[in-house]
Amino acid sequence: MATYVYGHTIPDSDSIVGAIALSYLKNKIGEECIPATQGKLNPESEFILNKFGVQAPELKTEYAGCDVYLVDHSDLAQSPDDIKKANILGIVDHHKLGDITTSTPLECWIRPVGCSNTIIKQMFDYHGVEIPADIAGIMLCAILSDTIIFKSPTCTKEDTKAARELANIADVSDLKELGMEMFNVKSAVRGATPRELTTRDFKDFTMGSMKIGIGQLEVVDLTIIDEIKQDLFDDIKKLKSEGRDAVLLLLTDIMQEGSQVLVATDDIAKFESAFDTKFDNNEAWIPGCMSRKKQVVPPLEKVFN
Ligand code: MG
Ligand code: MG
Ligand code: MG
Repeated sequence: MATYVYGHTIPDSDSIVGAIALSYLKNKIGEECIPATQGKLNPESEFILNKFGVQAPELKTEYAGCDVYLVDHSDLAQSPDDIKKANILGIVDHHKLGDITTSTPLECWIRPVGCSNTIIKQMFDYHGVEIPADIAGIMLCAILSDTIIFKSPTCTKEDTKAARELANIADVSDLKELGMEMFNVKSAVRGATPRELTTRDFKDFTMGSMKIGIGQLEVVDLTIIDEIKQDLFDDIKKLKSEGRDAVLLLLTDIMQEGSQVLVATDDIAKFESAFDTKFDNNEAWIPGCMSRKKQVVPPLEKVFN
């Protein structure tokens, strides 16, 4: 039986591309693997796969009895509901260590870099397997996406090195131009419902006894959000009422390098203390804030755990 490789729920480009790239590598070294996704692709991921002519992973939400590799997460809340009935062969990730455990030894590549695909590039190098141009192209895009074109504080020298090498293979000469092309697709809000926007990149976290949802929208210009901001606010209040204690939405301006943070909560003081920022009507601009994993989750955990 083949092994499945999948990324987190509400997959982003790192999860989609990671499943494809890691499956390719595993197949090359003699492990039959199938790339999968737990959900449908976002517009950015569709753009990336189209651009380099790569097929989307298979949509699959049930994994009981399957052998699996996980990419871009190690949290139960971001894996399938039946993950405890699957056999986890390995994890490739760049987040804080989550709460997934295994009953047998596993292959684990967890490193503090800006993108899971940087680690997968290092796995290709480790195994001496050549990366085809189309897969190099999508891996490069995943790195540009996760590191916000190298501007995120999560970006390391290893990410820029991997991106340069992948760009060579994929014959991409202007990384910034490719990055901006991608983020323009990502910024498209017209025609999308508030729910599509608030949950386009959304993760639930358990912090102490609290369930906190955190969404992020990365745009090239925040003013395009202005006229729909109230709708987004109303929607995160709804998301809160659907079984969460609080919901945050980070509206990240990738050019100004900061985030307008909206919070649906009954206790804004906790968030003011976490971010050391005064909120006005549950809303604040936090300069320099671009990374959920590095600048938002850790201060919240400090306050709620
Ligand atoms: Mg991700
Ligand atoms: Mg990632
Ligand atoms: Mg991200």
